[in-house]
Amino acid sequence: MTTFEGLGIDERLIRATTELGYVNPTAIQEQAIPVLLSGTTDFIGLAQTGTGKTAAFGLPLLHIIDAAAKYPQALVVCPTRELCMQIVKEVELFKKYMTGISVVAVYGGASIGLQIRDLKRGVQIIVATPGRLIDLIERKAINLEQIKYVVLDEADEMLNMGFQDDIEFILKNTPQRDSTWLFSATMPPEIRKVSKRYMKDPKEVTVGKVNMANKSIDHQYYLTTAQHRYETLKRIIDFNPGIYGIIFTRTKIDAQEISERLTREGYDIDALHGDLTQGQRDKVMGQFRDKSLQLLIATDVAARGIDVQGITHVINYELPDDVEIYTHRSGRTGRAGLQGICISIVHAKESYKLKQIERINNSQFHKLDIPSGKDVCRKQFFAFMEKLLSADISHGDYETYVPMLAEKFADVSKEDVLKRVAAMEFDRFLKYYENAEDLNLRDKGRREPSERGRDRDRGDRNDRGRSREQSSGSRDGRSERSSGGYSRLFVNLGTKDGFYKASFLQYILDMSDLKKESLGRIDMKDMNSWIEIDKSAAQQMVRALDGKNYKGRRIRMNDADSGGKR
Ligand code: AMP
Repeated sequence: MTTFEGLGIDERLIRATTELGYVNPTAIQEQAIPVLLSGTTDFIGLAQTGTGKTAAFGLPLLHIIDAAAKYPQALVVCPTRELCMQIVKEVELFKKYMTGISVVAVYGGASIGLQIRDLKRGVQIIVATPGRLIDLIERKAINLEQIKYVVLDEADEMLNMGFQDDIEFILKNTPQRDSTWLFSATMPPEIRKVSKRYMKDPKEVTVGKVNMANKSIDHQYYLTTAQHRYETLKRIIDFNPGIYGIIFTRTKIDAQEISERLTREGYDIDALHGDLTQGQRDKVMGQFRDKSLQLLIATDVAARGIDVQGITHVINYELPDDVEIYTHRSGRTGRAGLQGICISIVHAKESYKLKQIERINNSQFHKLDIPSGKDVCRKQFFAFMEKLLSADISHGDYETYVPMLAEKFADVSKEDVLKRVAAMEFDRFLKYYENAEDLNLRDKGRREPSERGRDRDRGDRNDRGRSREQSSGSRDGRSERSSGGYSRLFVNLGTKDGFYKASFLQYILDMSDLKKESLGRIDMKDMNSWIEIDKSAAQQMVRALDGKNYKGRRIRMNDADSGGKR
């Protein structure tokens, strides 16, 4: 097996990479480093993020830079500021044992004055986003005259983002360029054109689609309806208590809205997308990186190239259209030998994409059932018990308080203490999931028995009905409904109004000041819903809601079985 020594790089770099835990070079490093060390050969590396490409160009750059010459010798151009900062961070780590080499990041959105000051200090390596670089060139704050090595990282993405002219400008204005190193995940014709025009006989290397064949990622999917996506996402998060993950959306609006909604509901999440100011983006990334933020919701462009260690889950809120994008997204997890899970929320019409991804990626999807409310509660419960049992009590002066605690709890059994602790922790989950519906998209026969009536109630859903039956004997449950215990109310509110079952339940209970025990089954459709309710409480509910306004619309509520719309 090849070693870093065998590739011929400086011993100080080897020391640094060894400290970083690199034992052997990755495929792209093995193939790129010997070529790039010559400094004169143009190179095209078809490799994605996660393959170790930053070290593939970073190490040879540091090796061949002249530390004694205090002017810019290498220029790395990449699409986003996040990637820019990440590259600089890695290069800084690589050059830990080298002196006299300085590297600076220049990108849009941050103070150009400070960057100009940094540049004046005599840097050898500049890592830049195209827009800011051009700006600095125009201000004569950067001189590309003596640049010997140009690295284009994520070239396809830069072209996607409309930087083609800027890239060409940069290549045209580096007259002393000895070599150009281009890294790209794909090879669209535009890149081919750039390489033909500006590169000389490049050595081209494709590393096996590393992420695609990445066996350390378990590709899972959940099948649901489009309207249940959000609820399914919540269920996935709740079912994975230790999750540290990225959720991908297609649009900035989705990322922002879902983030706000989940934050309101108590989740530790923030959004990363192009509409944020640079300061906000840095803050979010910083928090996510140091794990003070558990979840990040991002668009593809904003998350491009981000390398964060230890991500347990990637969640596709929707499947992307492009297989490459799926690969990129899933490649955020399962890195550095760790296991990762990539979950996709899929609705029936998207199923065909799964096959496409499986075929191109040479991977296999596993279909899982969306966990029921009970599954989630159980999972949370066990996670909590683990946390309780592994709490560190070796520090702190607990001994002083134990006698007091013992006295206080003298009449409370151990079981009761445990129940109380659990109640404090789980009330939110138990309440929320008490009424949880089955979010799985079942085959038609099972899913659409809407008017088959009451038999369904006894079957797959409504645990609450069952538990009430158990706890209160013959008082209610399905059997008594037919004997006249329940009314059925119609209301012109539905999922199109932004409600999910749980939020709808909360809304009608808040409005009517009734207890949930007075409710039976709730059927929600896009525009309308039907509520089973104790006969004695029905009028109170109607009085509380009928004629009121919801988001500017007049609510109509009436008895469904006496002339109400069905
Ligand atoms: P990149 O493709 O440059 O984003 O790198 C992906 C991750 O792999 C980064 O966290 C690197 O620190 C890590 N990495 C790069 N090269 C190696 C190597 N030879 N051995 C182990 N990890 C590596």
